[in-house]
Amino acid sequence: MGETIRRLASLVCAVSCAAAFLSCSGLPAGVKPERKASQRVFVIGFDGMDPTLAQKWMDEGRLPNFKKLAEEGTFVPLGSTQPSESPTAWSSFATGANPGKHDIFDFLRRDPKTYTPDFNMVKKIPPEFLWGFIPIKAPKVVSTRGGTSFWVYAGRDGIRTRVLTVPVTFPPETIAHGVMLAGLPTPDVRGTLGTYYYWATDLSRYEEGNSEFGGILKRLVLDGDTAKTELVGPPNPIVRQELREARAKVPQTDADKTRIAELEAREDLRLPVVIHWDRANRAATIDIAGNSIHLREGDWSPWVSLEFDVNVLVRIHGITQFYLVRAGDELQVYASPVGMDPRNPPVPISKPDDFSAHLAQQIGLYRTLGWAEAADKPLNDGRLEEQAFLDDSNRAMDDRERIIFKELEDPNWDLFVCAIETTDRISHMMWRLMDTKHPMYDPVLAAKYGDSIERIYRRADDLIGRLRAKVPKDVVFMVMSDHGFHSFRRGVNLNTWLVQNGYMTLKGQEGGQKTLEDLFGHGQFFEDVDWSRTKAYAVGLGQIYFNLRGREGQGIVSPGAEYSALQDEIRSKLLTLTDPENGARVFGDIYKRDDIYWGEYLPNAPDLEVGFNDGYRVGWQDTLGGIAKAVIQDNDRKWSGDHCATATDISAGVLFVNRKIDTMTPSIMDLSPTILKLLGVPMPAGLDGKPIM
Ligand SMILES: [Zn+2]
Repeated sequence: MGETIRRLASLVCAVSCAAAFLSCSGLPAGVKPERKASQRVFVIGFDGMDPTLAQKWMDEGRLPNFKKLAEEGTFVPLGSTQPSESPTAWSSFATGANPGKHDIFDFLRRDPKTYTPDFNMVKKIPPEFLWGFIPIKAPKVVSTRGGTSFWVYAGRDGIRTRVLTVPVTFPPETIAHGVMLAGLPTPDVRGTLGTYYYWATDLSRYEEGNSEFGGILKRLVLDGDTAKTELVGPPNPIVRQELREARAKVPQTDADKTRIAELEAREDLRLPVVIHWDRANRAATIDIAGNSIHLREGDWSPWVSLEFDVNVLVRIHGITQFYLVRAGDELQVYASPVGMDPRNPPVPISKPDDFSAHLAQQIGLYRTLGWAEAADKPLNDGRLEEQAFLDDSNRAMDDRERIIFKELEDPNWDLFVCAIETTDRISHMMWRLMDTKHPMYDPVLAAKYGDSIERIYRRADDLIGRLRAKVPKDVVFMVMSDHGFHSFRRGVNLNTWLVQNGYMTLKGQEGGQKTLEDLFGHGQFFEDVDWSRTKAYAVGLGQIYFNLRGREGQGIVSPGAEYSALQDEIRSKLLTLTDPENGARVFGDIYKRDDIYWGEYLPNAPDLEVGFNDGYRVGWQDTLGGIAKAVIQDNDRKWSGDHCATATDISAGVLFVNRKIDTMTPSIMDLSPTILKLLGVPMPAGLDGKPIM
């Protein structure tokens, strides 16, 4: 009987598996054999390339290759998404659909039940260990993006495809007849977008610990010329599993609490680091994990491989680079975020899984971190200077270029899509030095670095020249960007505005015991909010959500008439908001949910989306639900240019094509259907964009 059932089960499985995964050709179901495209297509994206700057520098003769491309074919602004941020816009590029159909409305999403913001784009499923030792389930990362990418459709239709470091392609997608190397948000080994390390003799105890922008700072204490310290690596997945189990126990005894504290203390895997300071020669030697790295002041090390032992069965492989910031009067050492080693990443960063290793065999180690220009964070924290940031960012672009040219050596592709984000990062960090009205404008630094953005555009131009020499002339050659760029002079705190206008109530706000001054300035994740008297709250880079009954954990706004009236009321009030410093209007428009979004994920969309005028962005604290004192404040950070949630009529990116197109007002959603049409792939249903060629 048992045997019969077993055989029956295996037969059922064999039949259903074959039906599900294999067609008669031996290919997975729905996948056609490899074929030639009716038209080959090459696309390169430069994140954040702005049409006004591109036009200006083309007119001045500084971007000859872009100019040639524009004269041969097309140069037009490319309409972005609302909001005009990378996660949202690149998702619409891939899927040809509005955010209501791919569910990426911002960098952050919030849990409506608890109001807690969380990182968008991926969900992590931790690994599992049997008896706290033997790995039985590998860690998994799942994309939260909906919709289907055009390269997936193309692959299924038989098109040979390459997709390299395009944002919102982590975890990597399987492409039939194709390869993919993941881009943003591929994390470092700690699972973050880039935790950097900084050790220094001149750090005070007060400065030690985690920096505002995600660094781990440690004070170096010298014994003679030697300092012993450590590098904090990935969390130990076994300890994490034990912690989850311990925390889930209710009620908790004192012994349980002691155990949790003990587990938390050893949650992260750490590597000992010994630094020998050669003060006389302004140099240092860094000993870590069997490597001895000798650097002079201003030197960057080559890639250093690091191994973190979870136990004898499990080891996490990472790569980093050290930079000796100072070694004269003080000793300051920087290490870049520990990226996943492409030869052996803890979770796949490519499809096929071994493509990342194969690439490393051919070109050597390369940056795997999605946010490749990782020195923006230490620059913003004041730990690295402009030159170090620019050098590191240019090396990030070197790596991306090496990968693109390596993959172009093999001509067997019909669709090639790649992206570089260095344009975006340099624009974010260096805008202040070409905007004399920016609060962080500095004439001394401007004399030295005021042309940094122009330089990265010129580098992009040079790359276009070299790519066009390599890509055959009969290929449709497109250059696009996901959005443009603006100055970010003033931060606008939407939650503070909501409090001041009576849409959000803080605990203790009434009764005169506390002034607003007392209430503002503290409280992350809305810990001071009285939800029973709050109608709206802001999370992320320009999203306002209503405290909706039936959706939010403690909702008070009724769907229907009350909801619509609240949309109209807040919208019209925000539109009149002016900057007390100069009288300028803050918003170009405020968008109501159903006017700009449609599709299956509409219930997750913000109820209002703000559209800033040039010069404004959401304030730093406000993005995470922190409540600042003033509605509008100067942006006092080096992160000084931005594009998040700018009004639609000023948010466009660029589109260059070596052919004429049918419209002067294309949208980023049009590229997916346009490319599918060129390739001769049947048009899927449900796209919002239209072919423009
Ligand atoms: Zn950006």
